[in-house]
Amino acid sequence: MLIIRTKYLPPSRNYSAINLFGVFFVHPDVQVNKRLINHESIHTAQMRELLYLPFYIIYLVEWLIRLFLKGNAYFNISFEREAYKNESNYDYLEQRKHYSWTKYLRMKNGAKRPKPRKRFRRKLNKKY
Ligand SMILES: [Zn+2]
Repeated sequence: MLIIRTKYLPPSRNYSAINLFGVFFVHPDVQVNKRLINHESIHTAQMRELLYLPFYIIYLVEWLIRLFLKGNAYFNISFEREAYKNESNYDYLEQRKHYSWTKYLRMKNGAKRPKPRKRFRRKLNKKY
């Protein structure tokens, strides 16, 4: 992955990095670590299977729609959900099936944390 350090991209200081057609632009002060590279590599895989341009169109449309829905619009974009959920799994891209991001389209809006494990839930429901 080609990494270019520039103060001009992303244009907003609120974001530390942007992936444009598989080229990764980061602000000069941002620490590029394995997890960040994995996150951006997941986006590159999403872009490739959508032949790049449709990725940006879907990304923008989904973000615009989610602005009116519950939760943080950016974190709820299906592409971001997939990338954030799997950025610490360094084998993810080897196991990932094409169009996996579509599974994240239907997730309940605003839901960021997975449900507690079954055993834990049972314990919570126990009557004393
Ligand atoms: Zn991202």
